[in-house]
Amino acid sequence: MSEQKELFLKESEKIAFDLKHRATIKFNMSKYDAAVDRAVKRYSNLDLAKARASYIKTLAITNLHDNLLQFEKNITANGASVVWAENTDQAIEAVKKIMIENNSKTVVKSKSMTTEEIDLNDHLAEIGVESLETDLGEYIVQLAGEKPYHIVTPCMHKSRQDISRLFTEKFNTPEDSAPEYLTAWVREKLRAKFTTADVGITGANFLVADVGGIALTENEGNALMSVSFPRIHIVIAGIEKIIPRMQDLGLMWPILAAHGTGQQISVYNTLITGPKKEGESDGPEKMIVILLDNKRSELYANDDQFEVLKCIRCGACLNACPIYRNVGGYTYDATYSGPIGSVITPFFKGLKEYNHLSSACSVCGKCTEVCPVKIPLHHMLLINRRDAVRAGYGGFTWNKGMKAFEYAFSKRSRLDLMGGKTKNTFALFGTKALGEQKQIPKLADQSFSKQWTSNK
Ligand code: SF4
Repeated sequence: MSEQKELFLKESEKIAFDLKHRATIKFNMSKYDAAVDRAVKRYSNLDLAKARASYIKTLAITNLHDNLLQFEKNITANGASVVWAENTDQAIEAVKKIMIENNSKTVVKSKSMTTEEIDLNDHLAEIGVESLETDLGEYIVQLAGEKPYHIVTPCMHKSRQDISRLFTEKFNTPEDSAPEYLTAWVREKLRAKFTTADVGITGANFLVADVGGIALTENEGNALMSVSFPRIHIVIAGIEKIIPRMQDLGLMWPILAAHGTGQQISVYNTLITGPKKEGESDGPEKMIVILLDNKRSELYANDDQFEVLKCIRCGACLNACPIYRNVGGYTYDATYSGPIGSVITPFFKGLKEYNHLSSACSVCGKCTEVCPVKIPLHHMLLINRRDAVRAGYGGFTWNKGMKAFEYAFSKRSRLDLMGGKTKNTFALFGTKALGEQKQIPKLADQSFSKQWTSNK
């Protein structure tokens, strides 16, 4: 068993029975469920909207090469520069180079899972750069010394009491402060950071090919502030974030908001097509877009799974997943958790080490049902399982056990050779594999078909 699988089993058992964690997630998820329910009901034909969103992303991905080149051509014509990063090292090297060349020491950062993927803050700390998260949820997890728990709502695992306690501990704010008080407190603190930071770093919700634009969608205005004040704006985005046309945002922005946070549309929606031009009063003097591959090309080349590149990181599949709701975000030990994380993490971090994530699934299909771009997620998880077996990662006992299972269950007469006692002895192995909480029912002495025949 891989070290990662062992850890996953241990952590999931611990978290699933943690009643406080369960209560917090249940409360926060219930708010999300109610908001999304209202948001999707606003669509007169939700399925058609999802089919269109899926089509747009399919067009974007199948013409990935041309769309990316068009994006590069258009944004560079407007004064930005583009860096192609094959992997984490190249992306980090590019950011460090910009920081050093411009003698920059402070960064304000808006929420971006791509920067989490490359552990940007840790790498910036190595060269003495302070990188401050400015999205409230990200700010809270950074303060707690944690990673985001969820790709859209980073501190979903914390109750308002947990957050208030954290602020009291770190900043001596009054005990049991109301969320409004703490929000205003953070706003005040961040304003000073925005106006003095050397560099603003953002991700991109979409890269728009036909205008060479970075589309950002957010609720706090912190991404906009991170772009407006600092002298330099760095964008770090995965290559799959591309969409062909600006007019596609008319569907993509609202469908992302509806599935991500249950809003009709997010509060601030910004399209940035380059640095400040002559005569303009705000915006950065320099803009650099780092396009990150980091094994996305491998996914692209995979005929069975390239479709997962359509993902718009709305987080809906995480919230719908009964496994995620029970074991929580940290148990996955990966930047991307939940169903989408279980599909792509083996690509990013190794199928041998992370194929167990695809087995942590009841194949209920709820993730596929809720996905706004119609990615057949549960099917993708089955493909991962298949590939893991083909690659021989199941382990000796599992592989031999499955062979025996296939042999015995493929013919009724073979099964009937064993009596109830023998079958129950074999079933004990299953109990061990499924964990102490699971009870396997006792099998009858004779199979139903045997009983039927003898009763005749
Ligand atoms: S796979 Fe679909 S539901 Fe899951 S995060 Fe991506 S777009 Fe959202």
